[in-house]
Amino acid sequence: MSRVTEAQVMEALKTVIEPGRGQDIVALNMVNGVVVRDGNVGFAIEVDPRQGQAMEPLRKQAEQKVLALSGVSSVTAVLTAEKAGAPGGAPGGPASPQGQPQRVAQGPGQGAGQAPGQGPGQRSGPERAMVPGVRAIIAVASGKGGVGKSTTTTNLALALATQGLKVGVLDADIYGPSQPRMLGISGRPQSPDGKALTPMENFGIKCMSMGFLVPEDTPMIWRGPMVQSALQQMLRDVDWGELDVLVVDMPPGTGDAQLTMAQQVPLAGAVIVSTPQDIALIDAKKGLNMFRKVDIPVLGIIENMSTFVCPNCSHESHIFGHGGARREADKLGMAFLGEIPLDIEIRETSDEGRPVVVSHPESPQAQRYQEIAGAIWSDLSARLDDGGRAAPKIVMQ
Ligand code: ADP
Repeated sequence: MSRVTEAQVMEALKTVIEPGRGQDIVALNMVNGVVVRDGNVGFAIEVDPRQGQAMEPLRKQAEQKVLALSGVSSVTAVLTAEKAGAPGGAPGGPASPQGQPQRVAQGPGQGAGQAPGQGPGQRSGPERAMVPGVRAIIAVASGKGGVGKSTTTTNLALALATQGLKVGVLDADIYGPSQPRMLGISGRPQSPDGKALTPMENFGIKCMSMGFLVPEDTPMIWRGPMVQSALQQMLRDVDWGELDVLVVDMPPGTGDAQLTMAQQVPLAGAVIVSTPQDIALIDAKKGLNMFRKVDIPVLGIIENMSTFVCPNCSHESHIFGHGGARREADKLGMAFLGEIPLDIEIRETSDEGRPVVVSHPESPQAQRYQEIAGAIWSDLSARLDDGGRAAPKIVMQ
């Protein structure tokens, strides 16, 4: 099979006409960040933020045109709605919205600290406006990938829901979205009114993830402003309805991309997930510092894969030592929210889309998540002012 080139992709995209202006999307400089890798093609189409979902047919058409090229096995086109002076182009020097976009090609699960063209600015601005109907938004973050951040997010969200709360999950881990798999959801979100997307739902939880819009194994191409607009779209162009809490599964790491994300979302608090071996290191501290920079209270740290429980005899082994997280949390002035064991049931159930909190609600593992969720909600609800909004209180020392 012949190899497709970037020039051929651009040529194909010249046949896609933007209906409003009657010119093709290449001539209008709407195409950005084209990446071709082994027949997998990715690119972004920049649209006017006011048009949003109205451009979905254009995006689909662009994908189809490129997919029709010989040598192309998959196409991922994302709409980005970049506003002039948007936070992605803030103090660190704006990435050029047109012309010469910088490219970042990352596979799922990779660190995300190097998104270009963005610099951490100050907490402020309309981008942190509250999301109507959503009482509190919390982030689940980690210093690096693979520590169980997504698994913890899923189970905590489910635990909050079984405690009678209306819960949503926003999978902001755009480099390796795993919430669709962990929550056992497939398919694509629909937009009945052509404006807002209806979130997907399972186990009584609403969920939005880039994983619904692009296949999990497709290489994703993100540059700073695209990350920001994808996040904003998932936050604001989704009909979340009334929620008590929206849990955000952050991309792993504590780099600029995460910092800018944390800045853009009106977070009431953040939870840091760490493994025992990382806790003693700097990861937890980095997470704390990141949220500190943007004045977001850290609700506490969760030690994941804390002890090993033998599936045969239920004996607990402290493979990586024990108690370090609690000590470290004390030292940093952070609450310690609890420990989750390294447990085969947790792994199997979350990877199969039937997380332990719903598939084995009576198990000790599920109980751990319930306790932690209870602690998080009692802290969080104390922070909600009487307007039902998270008060911008800073509680860290
Ligand atoms: P992250 O979001 O930090 O990259 P994941 O939540 O995707 O990490 O977890 C990575 C892997 O570890 C997954 O296969 C998951 O099922 C497994 N895992 C997470 N937490 C636990 C745990 N407490 N016990 C056993 N396996 C776990």
